[in-house]
Amino acid sequence: MTTVPETHPRYRSLIKRERIIEFWKKGIVADAGLIAHGRGEAFDYIIGEATMPFAEDAERAAVAYLLTAHRPVISVNGNVTALAAREVVELARLTGAAIEVNLFYRTQERAEKIAGVFRSLGMEILGVHPDAEIPGLDHARAMCSRDGIYSADVVLVPLEDGDRAQALVAMGKTVLTVDLNPLSRTARVAHVTVVDELTRAMANMVRMARERDFDPDGVIASYRNDETLARCLLHIKKRMEELGVSCLPRHRPPEPRA
Ligand code: ATP
Ligand code: MG
Repeated sequence: MTTVPETHPRYRSLIKRERIIEFWKKGIVADAGLIAHGRGEAFDYIIGEATMPFAEDAERAAVAYLLTAHRPVISVNGNVTALAAREVVELARLTGAAIEVNLFYRTQERAEKIAGVFRSLGMEILGVHPDAEIPGLDHARAMCSRDGIYSADVVLVPLEDGDRAQALVAMGKTVLTVDLNPLSRTARVAHVTVVDELTRAMANMVRMARERDFDPDGVIASYRNDETLARCLLHIKKRMEELGVSCLPRHRPPEPRA
């Protein structure tokens, strides 16, 4: 593993990149997971590499749904395992959620390796031997556990594919996601979209679930995901405008264009 100096201005981002590469070498992150991570990094730059108020509100709503669910499930893939396995275990313990491995590029080997990571953290997970299918998806993408995602009422699916998120919504589930791309299909079909970087989002959600200093029913009743997405896009627009203006020399206003 390459050593990233702690003094590097983008230390935290580089450490995450190292972990993704390390887990790709172990056969836990899929090839496409490297690309997905890069897309996330790009959106994080644009958003400002920090948890914004719209993300914090969505994180609280997601925790509220997990706390009040009858059968909550947290779905994990290779990237989620590489970046936040400990936080997933912590959140599952605090909310009573089951954890299920759910892979877009599923191989039995990868599913078992991911289960091994969670076992080393003291947690058995579902989905290694799937016995049910999500309707409307082809077989490989549809496989899930009857006692897990199939019968869950609330599912947290961080870094999920749009088709699968849509299929879970069609099954009548409440779908919570973490996705830095506010324009992805997943972000747009989910009931709660946390537009925040996964490790920041999970740490915040663990803290919120531990402190429980809010009324979950009240939080759910007042939450509107369309407002979250609107606040996110307007934040990006404002930030880009401010950054654009700051590039210009103070004495020279922008040239008017025809
Ligand atoms: P969709 O199918 O939903 O339209 P997509 O095909 O772009 O979206 P996928 O590649 O299936 O998305 O899923 C990865 C998503 O996760 C991307 O939108 C990416 O921005 C986001 N992402 C990647 N890494 C992180 C991270 N560390 N934290 C938060 N989001 C991330
Ligand atoms: Mg996709």
